[in-house]
Parts: sequence; structure tokens; C-alpha cells
Amino acid sequence: MRRKIIAGNWKMNKNVDESVALINELKERFRNLPDGLEVVICPPYTSLVVGSQLLRGSALKLGAQNMYYEDDGAFTGEISARMLKSIGCEYVILGHSERRTYFHESDDVVNKKVRKALASGLRPIICVGETLDERERGLTEVVVSRQVKGVLENVSSDELSRAVIAYEPVWAIGTGKNATPQQANDVHRLIRGLISRLYDRTAGDRLIIQYGGSVKPENAMDLLSQPDVDGALVGGASLKAESFATIALASYPSG
Ligand code: PEP
Repeated sequence: MRRKIIAGNWKMNKNVDESVALINELKERFRNLPDGLEVVICPPYTSLVVGSQLLRGSALKLGAQNMYYEDDGAFTGEISARMLKSIGCEYVILGHSERRTYFHESDDVVNKKVRKALASGLRPIICVGETLDERERGLTEVVVSRQVKGVLENVSSDELSRAVIAYEPVWAIGTGKNATPQQANDVHRLIRGLISRLYDRTAGDRLIIQYGGSVKPENAMDLLSQPDVDGALVGGASLKAESFATIALASYPSG
């Protein structure tokens, strides 16, 4: 059975004091994690160092929400994979639809970031997903396939085994509208099939594919019990320890 990975994307929320409070609460709630369940929190950059210190010795993992693909140099305002690694980040979210929309990140840019993250020993959580207009025009498969191929260009099978894909329909992010469990599973299956064709069956079978888009305690169990849904990327509901913990435990009811 594939592991489940639940990640919390805090987006641009929580100053340092607020982050410390939330992390301490999360540590309490996640004292023991069942084997096979991984929980990652992705606070804003300003809280990563303190987050790393607080999480030492805990079962929770730390991730960033973005990075740049160069190691260092004249790139004002950017943060490199090397920097994230040096403070104890294990994960980095890449290609989130908010980055694609507001900061114009293309598949090509996301691909450069993915390759750099993997080469630096970070595990990328790579986001793909169609807009409402694309879904309504019947383009979900075309768009998601194009994104998956684009972001994984020149990524080896070995590297892919350390990556996570998050299927996040753009129309479901922060809107309160989630994909139905069947809609989510259909796209996850499509992604898994594509990976099996691009790499091989083993690569497809072992790939962790998270669903993201208005995951809440109320819908988590239905979404996460789908056979091809291996976890969730959670935005709004990750900002409260109680809702995030409920979602994580729903992914692993036997834990
Ligand atoms: C996200 O930020 O990736 C996300 C899915 O947000 P929300 O859960 O708030 O829809």
C-alpha cells in the first residue's frame, strides 16, 4: 500500500508568534503518527527557521511553499533550494496555481524548480490542475496531461520516486467547492496512467498523488478513501490544528 502524505499549505498567513503557537498545538496533536502516514507543514518563509527548531524530534515534517531554481546570486527576493535544505526543509510546494496565476509561472519554470529541488535533496510537491473554464470545455485531461509532462521533463525515474504530485483543480481552491471523490479519483487515475506510460508501471504504481481543493474535515474521509488518492494538500483548513489533525487522521482511519 502507498503511504499517505497530508501537507498543510499555510500560504501568506501567520506571523512568527502565530506560527509558533500553531506548531506547538500541532506537535501535541501529532505526537504519534501511524506507520505509513506522513504529515508536512508548509509555513511562510519567515517562520521556517523557528519551525525547523520546534519540529526537531517530532514526527512532523517541514516544507516551503516555493523556491527559485538558481543556487545563489543576484535574484532579489528569491530563496534557493540549498537555503531551504540548510534549515531542515524536506519538502517544497512547486507550481501552485496561485504561483502560476499571480506570478506567471509556466510549466517550464516549474520544471526548472522541480529539477533543482530534486537535485538538492528536497521532495517537491508539484501542483497541477485545470481551471473551471477548462473543465467545462472538456479539457481537463488535455490540460493536466500537458502540465504533468511539462513539469517532469528530464526528471529521471529515480528522481520521480521522491516527488509528489498534487492534483488541485483550480476551481476548487479556496472556493469551498471540492471535486467529488469520483472526479478526483478519475484525474488521479489519469495521472497514474500517464506516469506509467512515460516511465513504467512501477513508477505509476508508487507515485503519491495528493488531492487539493477545499479539503475539510467534513469531506476528507470520502476523498481520501478513494483508491488513487494518496493524501491531501490542504490550504485553509491547515490553519487550525483541530481541522488539520481531523483531516490527517481521516486519511488513515486505522491509525
Ligand atoms: C491549497 O492551497 O493548495 C488549497 C487546496 O487550498 P484550500 O484547501 O483552501 O482550497
